Amino acid sequence: MQYYFNLYNFSNFTLTLVLLTPKKLIKMKKYIILCLFMFAQSLVFAQKTYILCGNLLDTKSGKQQTKQTIIIEKNKILDVVPGYITPKGNTDKLIDLKDKYVLAGLIDMHVHVENEFGPTTRLDQYVLDEADIAFNAVGFVKTTLLKGFTTVRDLGGTGVNISIRKAINKGKIPGPRVFTAGKALASTGGHADPTNGSRRVLIGNPGPKEGVVNSVEDAKKAVRQRYKNGADCIKITATGGVLSVAKSGDNPQFTIEEVKAICDMAKDYGMHVAAHAHGDEGMQRAIIGGVKTIEHGTYMSEATMDLMKKYDAYLVPTITAGKEVEEKARIKGYYPAIVVPKALAVGPQIQGTFAKAYKRGVNIAFGTDAGVFAHGRNAKEFGYMVEAGMPEIEAIQSATITNAKILKMENEIGQIKKGFFADIIAVNENPLQDIKTIENVVFVMKDGKIYKNKKG
Ligand SMILES: [Zn+2]
Repeated sequence: MQYYFNLYNFSNFTLTLVLLTPKKLIKMKKYIILCLFMFAQSLVFAQKTYILCGNLLDTKSGKQQTKQTIIIEKNKILDVVPGYITPKGNTDKLIDLKDKYVLAGLIDMHVHVENEFGPTTRLDQYVLDEADIAFNAVGFVKTTLLKGFTTVRDLGGTGVNISIRKAINKGKIPGPRVFTAGKALASTGGHADPTNGSRRVLIGNPGPKEGVVNSVEDAKKAVRQRYKNGADCIKITATGGVLSVAKSGDNPQFTIEEVKAICDMAKDYGMHVAAHAHGDEGMQRAIIGGVKTIEHGTYMSEATMDLMKKYDAYLVPTITAGKEVEEKARIKGYYPAIVVPKALAVGPQIQGTFAKAYKRGVNIAFGTDAGVFAHGRNAKEFGYMVEAGMPEIEAIQSATITNAKILKMENEIGQIKKGFFADIIAVNENPLQDIKTIENVVFVMKDGKIYKNKKG
């Protein structure tokens, strides 16, 4: 910024000089020298960062190369060159990651930046103001970034998530790049109906503005409202869910016409649609209706897996969420009584469905549902994916190459490549041999700025 600013001053200054008489020029000698000095200084200030990488993973090809240098200027990767290059300018920065494994920043396609589920969540809904939610979220997004997730897709909250994205983008708080759905769309009594399970006097009549739709017209209005509010994508709850205070965790909750209306409208506004879905029928309606990603996919049949392939939809497995809700459901009083049987039934199914879907050739996009469990534990998902039969490199590719493509940022994030954003992380061991090393990220750079550089 400073560079351009000074250049601009300099050209104005040159123009002024042309208009001045020689006598006046002599009088202004000091000023001229000062300006020339500032201009020279501005050229020197094009500071670069050199990262010496002992081992660098190309997420696209899956190949690793030793002794590479990444050169960064401002927030972009200027070049990646073989060997260790020493900086030329004396203001340049050198980062030594010679004993580390370096790869592109990770992308999680399913988080909730606003909340972290716990025994008081039901009460929180009635006692937390938006400011309280925002202060909580500040901590959650920082934790996520420091664990190596430089981009996330947030799939639903109260709308504070949009403000969180703005604050991160303006550099007010540290956090990943956020793509957010704002408030998720549900039908009355559905998984994201905000007054579900409340006493009658508090239920009211939430409509499209609040994210509750019951017709094709409502569906269109709700999408337009999300656009107006500043959402980047749309989330629908195509079937019942585990943690909502409602009986069914898997019944279909939208008609196919409603799903189609939502997807068509979202397309007009350049947004894709993500569908929460555990049950098979709701999943099929979502896929045929045009959603891009199916979240969880718990009871997905083989026919639905084939439908996913036909419609080029992606499964976002969220195995970690399944494991965590099952574990927490065994703690007495942690969840409302109506949630417990759903958590115990759905939780253990998710990893098995993922294994079958992967084997059958369904597109897989990495996503965890962090917020349903503690933020910062997102990377555990890699271990669960590998355990279910996915090779390490493919699990990493699902969190980089695939997710970048869904977000239409495949030429900007997900790879360490010339012209891409400088989103770079490092780990101690080779993640292609020991995937769990990715749970302990030791270096984090996002947008050219270092957020973590732990030695050892
Ligand atoms: Zn979720």
